[in-house]
Amino acid sequence: MNILVTGGAGFIGFHLCNALLDQGHAVIAVDNFLTGTQENVALLDKHANFKFLEHDINKPLDIEVDHIYNLACPASPIHYQKDPVQTTTTNVLGMINVLELAQKNKARILQASTSEIYGDPLESPQQEEYNGNVNTLGPRACYDEGKRCAETLCMDYKRQHGTDIKIVRIFNTYGPHIYEHDGRVISNFIVQALKQQDITIYGDGSQTRSFQYIDDLIRGMIAMMQKDEFAGPVNLGNPHEVSILELAQLIIKLTGSKSHMTYEALPEDDPKKRYPDIALAHKKLEWKPRVALTDGLKKTIDYFKARM
Ligand code: NAD
Ligand code: UDP
Repeated sequence: MNILVTGGAGFIGFHLCNALLDQGHAVIAVDNFLTGTQENVALLDKHANFKFLEHDINKPLDIEVDHIYNLACPASPIHYQKDPVQTTTTNVLGMINVLELAQKNKARILQASTSEIYGDPLESPQQEEYNGNVNTLGPRACYDEGKRCAETLCMDYKRQHGTDIKIVRIFNTYGPHIYEHDGRVISNFIVQALKQQDITIYGDGSQTRSFQYIDDLIRGMIAMMQKDEFAGPVNLGNPHEVSILELAQLIIKLTGSKSHMTYEALPEDDPKKRYPDIALAHKKLEWKPRVALTDGLKKTIDYFKARM
């Protein structure tokens, strides 16, 4: 099969391309290097069935494909807030361009949506039926509302044009190959701990997240792409909820670091609670995460240690 991965030079895109190449598919990755790296592309280039196209999805694409995974969009708050208009544009205009390509090729398309569409949730765990609590005016809205509109576009292309769409709502995901300067919490804490620098807790650290290891996510995304007659949306995440303070303590313990914690201001609209209900993924895809937080963190710490 010919498979297009937009955002293929990024963290999840890199792992997804690798997994699809290992399954024997021909993979084309498209990326504009906003947050993705040449290093990831160089590693993927070792596969004979891999092609790379430097391209911004805000411009139309014309290639022949059977499946499309749409991952192109900066995912870390510091990066998606740098140029918020571009973030919204990528989620709306970019989404339309990729849906048009799917339509033209009669290709199946999977959209990488996010737990952020639930905003600062008033219900926990978050089920797919929950419509969320997003501030349309805040600094996270370019991402949250952009991703919500991308879901709307997917459903409207399905209703209006019969496009074969799939939506997965990804919860916080981590693992090797996260960019050191990505700015998200796990890479920040591991790098700070290994360099014996202060661990930067935003707010009092009582806010929660649930972290899934990259291999679990990739298995879920591919299972969803292969599933007929189910468009989603479906949550893909690990229901093990931890506070940011507990996460910092665990990373200090696993790295044996002497780092201390420092407290900084909580970013505006930072969600207070987040963890997924994954009953639907289990029912439809027979999917559940397999990697415990401690095991996934050890692998991620080993990756960063090897790079230093
Ligand atoms: P990432 O920032 O590492 O990867 C995003 C990739 O998209 C980068 O390579 C970037 O250069 C590329 N990109 C951005 N705008 C583009 C554009 N206009 N044209 C072409 N390429 C563009 O982030 P990630 O963690 O790998 O996330 C991948 C996708 O998964 C994103 O859509 C993100 O919203 C979604 N997601 C990720 C998480 C997570 O925890 N990692 C959680 C929820 C959703
Ligand atoms: N966070 C933190 N210190 C950091 C980076 C992030 O305390 O150095 C917090 C952040 O405020 C949020 C949580 O960790 O409450 C997860 O942040 P991340 O940027 O990884 O993802 P998101 O907020 O999008 O879930």
